[in-house]
Amino acid sequence: MQQKPNSSDMDFSICSKCLADQTRLTRNADGAECKICTLPFTVYHFKADSKTKRTVICHNCSKQRNVCQCCLLDLQWQIPIELRDRVLSALQDSQVTTAEAQNEMMKRFIALKNGDSHKLGGASVTSDANNTAQVLARMQERVADLQDSLSTTEKATNVKAAVSAPSGREGADISHLTKKLPLKSSLLEPSQSFFLYNIDPSMAEWAIVDAVSGIAGTPSWQDPMSTSVVINHLARCGGIRFKSSELAQRFQNGLDTFQTASKVTKGKLPVSNSKIHVVAWPQFHRAALGNKNTECLQLAKVLDTLVQRDLVPLPGVRPNIKETSKVGKPRKNRGTNKSKKSRRIMDIEL
Ligand SMILES: [Zn+2]
Ligand SMILES: [Zn+2]
Repeated sequence: MQQKPNSSDMDFSICSKCLADQTRLTRNADGAECKICTLPFTVYHFKADSKTKRTVICHNCSKQRNVCQCCLLDLQWQIPIELRDRVLSALQDSQVTTAEAQNEMMKRFIALKNGDSHKLGGASVTSDANNTAQVLARMQERVADLQDSLSTTEKATNVKAAVSAPSGREGADISHLTKKLPLKSSLLEPSQSFFLYNIDPSMAEWAIVDAVSGIAGTPSWQDPMSTSVVINHLARCGGIRFKSSELAQRFQNGLDTFQTASKVTKGKLPVSNSKIHVVAWPQFHRAALGNKNTECLQLAKVLDTLVQRDLVPLPGVRPNIKETSKVGKPRKNRGTNKSKKSRRIMDIEL
């Protein structure tokens, strides 16, 4: 039997979904900078499902986080790291987080740790069969409990009611969050920070950061001294802060914009196949993105409603925006149907 030549160099972690049936990979030593630690790494290119794919983070970073080097989803659970850690936090009644380095020095420091033994956040669970089994057993218990309580109390409530009355019986009261969020703001006011929503849960943070860098014209728009990017996948929103007002303005000017039915101008940031909606958020406040899972889920509902409202076509304007399929595609603008629909949407108080 033939051993792989120089097996440490040939190592990679690519999930079966990305790899499909592909066995032929092209290797490019030091082919790119890792999206996480920024060190040069061995890039693998391959063709799967008639698309050319490539690894975007180094193998060590992938092992530390137990994620696929291409799609960055957890190798075992196929969900984003942030979501995985939330699920584990809830199941273990303790805070599980994958703390990513905010500056160059910390990046190098974490990069030096060997990913075989040094696991970050929930990776220590999902990279280990025993730990995973324990957590899954716990999950089964919780699901059973949940089913019991659902069948007794919440059978009759409906989702629409929860959205229009966030403080109602179903869903958490998140008015303390929504009053700090710029839900009625436009893109155009002067601001060094911005609120992002309509974020697909599978969208990697680096992809968003890259898209912002593309519009701002530089990858170094973040302030190395403070948190510049916060993405909450569960709430499907986030915030970014630029290190200078010049960069923020360049971003503002570079974004495509659209107008809502109430004549508010908002920005659209294309990432992969969907578009993130962007408004100014001068009072950037990371806690307003929610912390508890129930709050985040409720916020996601409220924001979905906002996205729908954003997409109601202006009278007389034919929409040519294409959004992700899940959240309210712009409907055809047709007589009575339309006025009925906009009334339902406009009624909702945030
Ligand atoms: Zn790396
Ligand atoms: Zn993958």
